[in-house]
Amino acid sequence: MSARVLVVDDILPNVKLLEAKLSSEYYDVLTATSGEEALEKVLNESPDIVLLDVMMPGMDGFEVCKTIKDNPDVAHIPVVMVTALTDAEDKVRGLVSGADDFLSKPINDVALMARVRSLVRLKMAMDEWRIRENTANQLGVVGEASNVMTEPVEGARVLVVEDKDFEKKKVEETLAQDHDIVMSAESGAKAMEMASKQDFDLIIVSLDLEEEDGLRLCSHLKSNERTRALPILMIGEDGDMSRIAHGLEIGAHDYIIRPVDRNELIARVRTQIRRKRFQERLRSTYEISLSMALTDPLTGLYNRRYLEVHMQKLLQKNQDSKKNLGVLMIDIDHFKQVNDTHGHNVGDEVLKIFSERLTTNLRSFDLVARIGGEEFVVILPDVSEKRAYMVAERLRRSISEEPIPCGVPEGSLDITTSVGGTIIEHGEHTTEDVLGRADKCLYEAKEGGRNCAVFEGVGKLDPEKYQSEERQTFE
Ligand code: GH3
Ligand code: MG
Ligand code: MG
Repeated sequence: MSARVLVVDDILPNVKLLEAKLSSEYYDVLTATSGEEALEKVLNESPDIVLLDVMMPGMDGFEVCKTIKDNPDVAHIPVVMVTALTDAEDKVRGLVSGADDFLSKPINDVALMARVRSLVRLKMAMDEWRIRENTANQLGVVGEASNVMTEPVEGARVLVVEDKDFEKKKVEETLAQDHDIVMSAESGAKAMEMASKQDFDLIIVSLDLEEEDGLRLCSHLKSNERTRALPILMIGEDGDMSRIAHGLEIGAHDYIIRPVDRNELIARVRTQIRRKRFQERLRSTYEISLSMALTDPLTGLYNRRYLEVHMQKLLQKNQDSKKNLGVLMIDIDHFKQVNDTHGHNVGDEVLKIFSERLTTNLRSFDLVARIGGEEFVVILPDVSEKRAYMVAERLRRSISEEPIPCGVPEGSLDITTSVGGTIIEHGEHTTEDVLGRADKCLYEAKEGGRNCAVFEGVGKLDPEKYQSEERQTFE
């Protein structure tokens, strides 16, 4: 992973020093010697992280940071402020302007590298979601440009792992100003148990618990599927830098040094909450828009667009495999009459139940798509000819043998369906050709009296035969 780091400092030797350190760790280093130049590079060269000096003539670091964080295009780029100031107030001012961390000069190399690595990792994960959000927007779902800085920070659920009462109280009191819901655990085991049952937005872990190593808990949290994405804020001692660095390596997101400054704590907690909520929002926009673009709202099945893309992939994969692909084209018989006699709403109800029956009678990796009004396609990967015939007959029966409940005076309707099927062997095939072949069989099924299945090269299937064969295979 070669990440791009932008180093900003008005004093050239400082720039050179950091550049040398980072280059030796194989980072790509960009440099700037003023706030203005820094902004220009942030906008035009999309670095993965910015190391930003605070004291600069003209535009200072606070202002540069705030400008970056106010711009939705670049706000997600992590900013680490680097300064000779050690005043807690300056630190907090930096964090409030949106900085992701604050390092004091002279820079501790271990802290610097751990920090850069951890923030770069985070940025890459964020980039992935931003790309998807972009795709989702292109698929036609309108989304406002999202900015991590405008996410709400109040009312977060926070778990504090701390065995010292006095420290625990301090955290609770501090977070109360944001109306956070704070819970606490005195041991790692208890914390794991709580985190596996409830959803938290952040976990704060003391690295100097009496009875155990807080890092072990961090590592457990990171290796557990359910808690992996939960941000971790470590609390440690100044002399504990190598363990803190280790924590960041493992995947903890941030740390704070004792004695805990309340303003710094709240600023760091807010950064984590904001980021978590931002990521969650990106993910859910993505999922919603994707499902809107690729599924049919009435039945929840995949639509034609999805089927075409997916089928192309399956056919490619099938080219040199020895496995067969079964393709079924299914169409409800005389569906127009249902609409004409009972109305469109009843027609919709039938379509829904019909779709459910198809799905429940297939394997989880078979694919069903609604490609037209009352036309469906089923793809059966890795299927034998005989099995494909059985499935076609099973689907047909699942409709004809049980009336479909819907809003008609009788409470249900007798519906039948016709099926056209073909088996695709390895070799070159196009989606269009394959669907055309199945469609031709469907046409024959309609011509042949409906409520039947016709396969390419086989003709109409004998219902008795495949029903009894299916019984035998399941017995
Ligand atoms: P066949 O047995 O030959 O397939 O006859 P059919 O009546 O089923 O076929 P046709 O293609 O003539 O009519 C299909 C009907 O499906 C016409 C249309 O009103 C109805 N339809 C298409 N989409 C929907 C939908 O989303 N909801 C409802 N309720 N009806 C739909
Ligand atoms: Mg029809
Ligand atoms: Mg039709």
